[in-house]
Amino acid sequence: MFGIVPTIICRQRLFRLLTVSTLIIFSNTVFAQQAITLQLRWYHQFQFAGYYMALEQGYYRAAGLEVTILPGAPDIVALDKVLTGEVQFAVSASGALLAYLEGAPVVALAAIMQKSPSVWLMRADSDIYTLQDLAHARLELSMSKENTELLAVFAKEGVDIGKLQLNQSSMQLDNLLSGKTDAFNAYLSNEPYLLEQMGVPYRVIHPIEYGVNFYQDVLITHADYLAKQPAEVKAFVDASLAGWRFALDNIDYSIAHIQQHYAPQKTIEHLRYEATVLRSLIMPDLVEIGHMNPGRWQQMAETYQRLQMIDKLKPLPDFIYPAPRSANYSVLLKMLLLMLFMIGVLSFITLKFRRLTGALQAEIARHGVTERQLLARNQELLQMATTDLLTGLSNLRAILQQANAEIRRASRYQKDLAVLMLDIDHFKQINDQHGHAAGDKVLIEFAGLCLQSIRETDLAGRYGGEEFFILLPEIDLATAILSADRIRMAVAAHPFTLNDGNSLNVTCSIGIAMYRPEQDSLDKLLLRADQALYQAKRQGRNRCCVQHHPYDAG
Ligand code: GH3
Ligand code: MG
Ligand code: MG
Repeated sequence: MFGIVPTIICRQRLFRLLTVSTLIIFSNTVFAQQAITLQLRWYHQFQFAGYYMALEQGYYRAAGLEVTILPGAPDIVALDKVLTGEVQFAVSASGALLAYLEGAPVVALAAIMQKSPSVWLMRADSDIYTLQDLAHARLELSMSKENTELLAVFAKEGVDIGKLQLNQSSMQLDNLLSGKTDAFNAYLSNEPYLLEQMGVPYRVIHPIEYGVNFYQDVLITHADYLAKQPAEVKAFVDASLAGWRFALDNIDYSIAHIQQHYAPQKTIEHLRYEATVLRSLIMPDLVEIGHMNPGRWQQMAETYQRLQMIDKLKPLPDFIYPAPRSANYSVLLKMLLLMLFMIGVLSFITLKFRRLTGALQAEIARHGVTERQLLARNQELLQMATTDLLTGLSNLRAILQQANAEIRRASRYQKDLAVLMLDIDHFKQINDQHGHAAGDKVLIEFAGLCLQSIRETDLAGRYGGEEFFILLPEIDLATAILSADRIRMAVAAHPFTLNDGNSLNVTCSIGIAMYRPEQDSLDKLLLRADQALYQAKRQGRNRCCVQHHPYDAG
């Protein structure tokens, strides 16, 4: 048992530290200590534990409040003390609502007990079991506006209140014990314990069993005070509720404190009984301490109307603190802001996605253009690699490749193939006499004459310098000689024009060789054509020669 004490104290210290610092941070006003008085509705007991603990733990002081707690007594009506302005705050009963509906400027700040402890208390040896039985019994009731639910329950059951045998409460159990009174208005947390201690069996009728469920122990203030000092009211409510949370989390510690400082006449056991019952009515594990449901207040107001205790209903927002309408609006506003934020985020993502898609499409298009350019460039390079830049004919490399292909084809299909090797006569002299550019021009025109003189299937290329090379596939020797001679004659007849306007006669010599499938490689074939060309040169130029068989076309 002793081991528990340090743990409790340690927990309690930590709780105090956290709560005090929270209150300091959130009390947003650093005003000088305000003198505040809280009027309780009954004698000091566990029923008001939260307020004592708020004081003891320093929550009020941290919030800038110097609080005095006044105990109640049978002749003190806590509600009236607030209405006359004698005190700033009071712990009232749900009757405060009745006062409000009758026009009193009272505001409910927090409902501590979610269920009321007010009950009808009877001896177990009485004949009273139901509310109907109570209707014919002698009743003792503390007849202030604060104890309305014990009457409301009769109205609910259709019992005429005017016919009840009501006596003002003696506030003592004596009449009940002696039999002068049949039923007594009691607090579940208090009188039943006393009867248990005395060994007197008892019964209770709880209004909740008949559907009358009122708030109890409601913290109230004056509407004018709230209007003038809203910061103090908020600070007092926050600190008080923090005190309640502490008290219910540290019941043993709180009981010890209350017994020592406020209720020395009550035993620890009595206080613990009270604490246990009240905790079950406060329901701190299910409901936030002090919570008020506007719908529930509304139901209570309608009960008063049915009881004909008020003339007409009145809107409740001014009675319930903080005004529920503004609270609802703030939730709506928060939801609206959240939705706007989410719409904003979604729009941003969509926009970003569209931009990215656009950029991607542009990039793909750019790649397409680049790819086409690259293909064209490759084509160009291929052209350059296979073409003689000056004449536009196939260059040596390309013409040799083509020759190889033609040899293979001729060999495979047993076709004839003739090769012509052409060389411009005395070309050096042209260069020497008319300049290199003139020589180039002759080369270009010579190439053109060659192309004009051959068939579409024949292939012409520049072998190098002023030497050319022509492949004539599928042709016999006689036709090849005729073709070669046609070229030679075309050249000889062509007037090569110079830049200075003069024209020039140019001739060429041509060597002819027929491919011999069994014996010839390309080299051998070319060599034989070259030999024929050499022969043509030796025999005087401007002529065609077949290898070993000179043929004089002129
Ligand atoms: P032959 O009748 O014996 O063939 O005498 P030739 O002068 O034509 O032969 P040679 O081999 O002595 O001279 C060829 C000349 O061709 C030498 C060279 O300067 C010239 N030549 C080679 N390539 C080009 C060229 O691309 N442009 C020009 N203008 N001249 C070239
Ligand atoms: Mg030559
Ligand atoms: Mg020559």
